Amino acid sequence: MDAFLSIKGLSFSYHSPEGETQALHDINLSLREGEFIAIVGPSGCGKSTLLSLIAGLLPFIGGEITAGEILLQNRPVSENRDRIGYMLQKDHLFPWRSTKRNVLLGPEIRHDKTSEKETKALALLDSYGLAQFAGSSPSSLSGGMRQRAALIRTLMTEPALLLLDEPFSALDYQTRLNVSDDICKQIRKEQITAILVTHDISEAISVADRVVILSKRPATVAKTLDIQLDMDSPLRSPLLARSSPNFTHYFNLVWKELTT
Ligand code: ADP
Ligand code: MG
Repeated sequence: MDAFLSIKGLSFSYHSPEGETQALHDINLSLREGEFIAIVGPSGCGKSTLLSLIAGLLPFIGGEITAGEILLQNRPVSENRDRIGYMLQKDHLFPWRSTKRNVLLGPEIRHDKTSEKETKALALLDSYGLAQFAGSSPSSLSGGMRQRAALIRTLMTEPALLLLDEPFSALDYQTRLNVSDDICKQIRKEQITAILVTHDISEAISVADRVVILSKRPATVAKTLDIQLDMDSPLRSPLLARSSPNFTHYFNLVWKELTT
């Protein structure tokens, strides 16, 4: 069967007045539909670059793919941009719009704000514990609540592929554990195909089916680990995963790879 997402021999360089920076070198990676993978790697190795390229944002990032290609269901990602949801560390919620109107931004831009979309937005707000804040400005929400709202906004566009670039790293530790647990459970429940980029090894192992470890810049795939925790179930909780006996084993493997 063909991969859902397929990255073949991908190399990429930035061009700037100071010269050329090679960010990615010969990346090979594929994803099945419904799979949830995490990508870890040293700071500055090229993780965000890789995610922007998967999002089809090449024309906006000022560089060049020097080799290889990225296909989503056998078509170049540049033709698939509207099927890909991209969520960043910063939530980019608009303070002058209510939480509900922020969440409905995608359908509104596409002139597709139907009553079904509105019902769906309210249902998602409810399932993420935000129903009572639908009419409030995002400025009255906590950091964790804002991240949930940003995710709902992304999910409202019904992306075929969800990309998350360190979405929890601006949150304090305890909030981060809770929010990442909630969000990742939801992603599994809805079997959304997703890639989470994180520098947090524990987060990666606790949420993902597979952890891809990138090398220092220019990033290449240094190692891939299939994560099998003994409490595996399709709806396993990331928080519970952390207490699985295998967890430490994987942590040590990733740690070793990142530090040698
Ligand atoms: P990561 O997300 O892993 O921390 P990035 O993908 O953001 O890393 O960056 C990879 C490398 O590319 C870094 O060395 C960074 O300085 C460089 N880089 C990122 N954006 C640009 C740009 N617009 N122009 C030139 N170099 C860039
Ligand atoms: Mg980054």
